Amino acid sequence: MKLVPRLAEQGYRNDLVAERRAWMTAQTGSPLQHVGTFSLDMEACRGNIENPIGVAQIPLGVAGPLRVLGEHIEGDVYVPLATTEGALVRSYERGMVTLTRSGGATVRLERDENRVCPLFMFDDVAAAADFARRLPAHLEEVRAVAQTTTSHGRLLRLDVQQVGREVIVTFAYFTGDAQGMNMIVKATEAACQWIVGQGLATRFYTFSGYNSEKRASGSLMAGGKGKKVVAGATIPRRLAKAYLHATPEALHHLWQRTVIGHLQTAALGYNGHFANGLTALFIACGQDVANVANSAVGITHFEVTTGGDLYASVTLPSLSVATVGGGTGLGSSHECLQMMGCAGTGGALRLAEITAATLLAGELSFGAALASHEFVEAHETYGRNRPAEETP
Ligand code: NAP
Repeated sequence: MKLVPRLAEQGYRNDLVAERRAWMTAQTGSPLQHVGTFSLDMEACRGNIENPIGVAQIPLGVAGPLRVLGEHIEGDVYVPLATTEGALVRSYERGMVTLTRSGGATVRLERDENRVCPLFMFDDVAAAADFARRLPAHLEEVRAVAQTTTSHGRLLRLDVQQVGREVIVTFAYFTGDAQGMNMIVKATEAACQWIVGQGLATRFYTFSGYNSEKRASGSLMAGGKGKKVVAGATIPRRLAKAYLHATPEALHHLWQRTVIGHLQTAALGYNGHFANGLTALFIACGQDVANVANSAVGITHFEVTTGGDLYASVTLPSLSVATVGGGTGLGSSHECLQMMGCAGTGGALRLAEITAATLLAGELSFGAALASHEFVEAHETYGRNRPAEETP
């Protein structure tokens, strides 16, 4: 197998990207015409991609209006969704219109932090216990060291857990508008080196496996990995019937009866398809799409109110979203964030609230499609893309 040419460190200049693409065409026979048609300045992609040959294009749709009644947005937005799953945008839009006609989705943010969880290794459980007892007293010094590496990150606390002769230390940070992993891994590495330098420990790994970055885990349900956001709305019975084609009782019944299946499969959380809306929104807005793995752990709840209406809510304990850093500043990502008034500094909490309201819309529409048995029909109408029959 031949290696992709490095084209020196200047491999981001558009002519060099074209040269690499032409080489790949010669190797594979694929013309790469669409890959090579783009408006991004590849120099701006340094830090986002290596060996660039162009751009992968995903269709972008828009759904809305979505009324969000949060603490960082109070108003209507249109939400960009990048996907190749037919019926997805239409389905989210149905939920959004239902929410908006019902007065909007109320959203609240409970926690805003990200974590890195290194492990420290000791010779025996007594030494590990000694470290676990002594470390919390050094919080201020550890904080001072960690924060020398970042002007935006703040170390909130240290949580210590001993497991056998290892100690897992959760470094919990506020990361501003950034998702923060580059920021806080650097800060944590510096803090761990300081801990070793002080003779408190001798050996550590920066990642213990506990932090659940880009992995689903039970610990995510309690929050601490990203933003904890909750969205809810009352859907009047007549609007549920008109827009969702389902009564509040039918939606509650579906919710109640599908608990068993989720228990049987040992699901983490309980939701219909958080991953769908998250993935489409993340691709559109330059989020790290792999963070869907942790962000999609959460709970949806459908209830019938005493007045006979539907109360629907979603709880996202570990949502990773950002408006600064990563891919958020690149071309179409920046434009999509701008569409929602979220681009750049000060936009992350607004984006988190819009994301939660979007997922609530998706849960309503998906649940309704199942309750009314319209799911297959909707996909037949909007979501099929069978390849043309090949003639022999
Ligand atoms: P980043 O693009 O590496 O850095 C963002 C930087 O922007 C911050 O560190 C901060 O610099 C600066 N900044 C300016 N204005 C800010 C504001 N208003 N709020 C917060 N920061 C502001 O992004 P990141 O969020 O740290 O890291 C996300 C990326 O890390 C993703 O692309 C992800 O793929 C990648 N990642 C890394 C790891 C890892 O282990 N290293 C793991 C998973 C993912 P200062 O810190 O200097 O203040």
